[in-house]
Amino acid sequence: MPDFNNLTWIYEWVYQFVFQLTLAITAPLTSTSDIYWAYLLSALVLGVGVTYRRRTLASKEHTESFQSIGFWRSFQSKYLSKKLWGHPSALLDMRYYVVNAIVFPLLFAPLALQSQTVDHFLKVWFEKIIQITPANILTSGSFEDIATKLVYTLVFFVAYDGGRFIAHSLLHDVKWLWEFHKIHHSAQVLTPFTTFRVHPVDLMVMVSVPALTTGIVTWLFHVTVSPEIGFYTLLNLHVFICLFNFIDNIRHWNVWVTYPAPLNKWFISPAHHQLHHSADPKHWGCNRGFELAIWDHLYKTAITPSVLEQDVKFGLGDGDDLSWRTIGQLYINPFKNLLIRGFTSTKQSY
Ligand SMILES: [Zn+2]
Ligand SMILES: [Zn+2]
Repeated sequence: MPDFNNLTWIYEWVYQFVFQLTLAITAPLTSTSDIYWAYLLSALVLGVGVTYRRRTLASKEHTESFQSIGFWRSFQSKYLSKKLWGHPSALLDMRYYVVNAIVFPLLFAPLALQSQTVDHFLKVWFEKIIQITPANILTSGSFEDIATKLVYTLVFFVAYDGGRFIAHSLLHDVKWLWEFHKIHHSAQVLTPFTTFRVHPVDLMVMVSVPALTTGIVTWLFHVTVSPEIGFYTLLNLHVFICLFNFIDNIRHWNVWVTYPAPLNKWFISPAHHQLHHSADPKHWGCNRGFELAIWDHLYKTAITPSVLEQDVKFGLGDGDDLSWRTIGQLYINPFKNLLIRGFTSTKQSY
C-alpha cells in the first residue's frame, strides 16, 4: 500500500515508467532482446536468400529467364509492403509491444518464477529441512572441464525448450488459459512484433514453467558437479538460444522458411510456427515447440511443413478475430470471456 504522505513512491513509479519505456525503444540495440538489430538483419538476409533461391529454381523448372529486378519488386510487395506492416493487426502489435513493455515488468514480472529461485529453494529444502547434502558425484571443480560445461549447456537448453513446450501446451489445452493465449493467435498478419502480442497471464506461464525445469536441472548440476558451473554464452545469452535468435524472427513473418531434410523433422522451423498460427482447423494446436520438434512428435501435435511454400491464412479461425482490435480488448477480453462463458465452457479454437 503506497504511503500517501510520502510521495517518493510517485517518483519511483515515474522512474520505472521512463526506464521500461527506454528499454522498449532501445531494444534493437540490446543483444538480449528478440528484436536486436543483428537478429532482424539476419532474418531479412535469410528471408531474401531463401525466396531468391526458390524463385531461381522455379524459373529453371519452367525454363523461363529469371529477372532479379522483378524479384526485388515482388519480394517487397509481398513481405515488406505497407499492406503487411501497416495492417491494423500489425500496428496493434507495435502499440501493444510498447504498452506491455511497461505493464508486464511493473505489475507481473515480480510474480513470475525464476530459475535461480527454484535452484535456491531446492538447495535450502534438501540441506536445511531434510538435511541431505548430495555429494558431488563428479570431481569437484570440474566445471572448468569443457566437456562438463558443454553437457550442462546442452541439458539446460533441452530443459528450457521442454519447459517452454509444456507451458505452451498448457496454454492450448487448459481451457481458461487458452482464453489468455488467444491474444497471440488473434493476429491476422505476422511480423516480428507479434512475438510480443502476449497477455501478461500467458507470459507468466511462459516464464514460470521453463524457470521450474531449468531450476531443477541447475540445482542437480550444482549439487553433483559444482556450485560454480555455468553454461556457454554468446551475446549475453545462452549460446543455443542466441544462435536460434538469428532465425527466429522469421517465424512471425510470412516468408516461408523450412530447414533442409532431415533437420526439418526434428527442429521447429519458422514455417512450423506459421502453421501453428493457421486459421485452418486442421492446423489448430499443432507445432507447439520452439526449437526442438521432439516434444511435438511425442505429444502427437507435430505437422512437418512442406518445403514448397504454403499459403497460410493466419488468425483464430473461429470468426472472432475482429473482437481483438484494441489494446484494451487484448488485456480485458480474456477476463470478460471467462466471466461470460465460465472457466470450462470457452469457445473451442485450439
Ligand atoms: Zn499457441
Ligand atoms: Zn507465435
